[in-house]
Amino acid sequence: ERLVESVADREDQAVEAALRPKDLGEFIGQEKVREQLDLVLRAARARGATADHVLLSGAPGLGKTTLSMIIAAEMEAPIRITSGPAIQHAGDLAAILSSLQEGEVLFLDEIHRMSRPAEEMLYMAMEDFRVDVIVGKGPGATAIPLELPPFTLVGATTRAGLLPPPLRDRFGFTAHMEFYEPAELERVVHRSASLLDVEIDTEGAAEIAGRSRGTPRIANRLLRRVRDYAQVKGDGRITKDVAAAALAVYEVDARGLDRLDRAVLEALLKLFGGGPVGLSTLAVAVGEERETVEEVAEPFLVREGLLARTPRGRVATPAAWSHLGLTPPRSQGA
Ligand code: ADP
Repeated sequence: ERLVESVADREDQAVEAALRPKDLGEFIGQEKVREQLDLVLRAARARGATADHVLLSGAPGLGKTTLSMIIAAEMEAPIRITSGPAIQHAGDLAAILSSLQEGEVLFLDEIHRMSRPAEEMLYMAMEDFRVDVIVGKGPGATAIPLELPPFTLVGATTRAGLLPPPLRDRFGFTAHMEFYEPAELERVVHRSASLLDVEIDTEGAAEIAGRSRGTPRIANRLLRRVRDYAQVKGDGRITKDVAAAALAVYEVDARGLDRLDRAVLEALLKLFGGGPVGLSTLAVAVGEERETVEEVAEPFLVREGLLARTPRGRVATPAAWSHLGLTPPRSQGA
C-alpha cells in the first residue's frame, strides 16, 4: 500500500471527509493564507456580495479542497466540486456554469488540466458572468449569450505557474499553501486522534508528524495505519514505540520517505551514479509515471535536500547517499 497516494480507497475518503476542519478557526497552520482569506470573506459578507474568485496552489493533501469547503461554509453558500480533467469539452463547463445558484462556490481542482476551449469559456464566465453557448455545427452554428448568476470560483492547482497568465490574472485572491511545520502536523494528529477516539501521547503524535512530509493528508493516513497496528498488536494506545514499529511495517522511514521515494533515490544513485539524469528516464527506471515522480516524490525529496533539479537533469545530493547508507563514487568529490 502506498501511504502517500492521492487516490485514497473508499474507507479512507469517508474518514478523510470526517476529519475535515469545518471553519477557518479549526483549520490548522497556514496563518497568512487564513488571515488573508478571512479578510476577503468578511469583506464580501459585509457587502452582501459574492466573494472574489480564489486560486489555491500547493501540493496535494495540504488542504485546498478543505479550504474551498470552508469558503462555502463561511459564505453560507452551496458548493459544487469538479476538476479540470473532468471538463474536456466547453459544453461540459457550460452545463455546470449554467446550473449554478447565485453565490455558489465552484471548486475546480487541477484547474491547469482543463481543455483549451473550456479555459477560454471560463475567462468570460469569471469576468463577466456570461458564457456563449454554441448551438449547431459548422457554418450554421450560432453563439447564444447566457447570463450567469454571480458565483465564486475556487481553483486549485499544484503550481500556479502551470496556469496561463490570462487565467491566473482573473483570480482576485491567490494563495500559496506551504508545507506544514512538524508542530502544526502534531496538532493535526492530535485533533484527528480525538475525532477518531484514539488515545495518543505527545511523543506518539510527534513520531507520526515527523514522518508526514509536511502534509496533513499523510499525517491523517499514517495515524489510521498506526491505529490499526496499535489495536492489533497492542492495547490501542499510540506511543512513540508503537508509532515507530507500525510505520516500519508500512515502510515509511524516519524521515518520512516511503517506498516510492526510496525507489527514486535508489535508482538515481545505483543506476545513474547520482545523476544528472532526465526525469523521464528516472520515471521509467522506477516504473512510474513522469507526473508521479515529479509531483508525488520529488517535491519532498527536493525539500529534504536529497535531490536537486538542475537544467541537465536530476542530481542526488551528498545527503541522499548517506540517507541510503551508500558511498558516493570518487568523482562526486565526497
Ligand atoms: P488537497 O485538496 O489540497 O489535496 P484536502 O483539503 O483534501 O487537500 O486535505 C486532505 C486532508 O487533510 C483532509 O482530510 C483534511 O482533514 C486534512 N487537512 C488539510 N489541511 C488541514 C488543516 N490545515 N488542518 C487540519 N486538517 C487538515
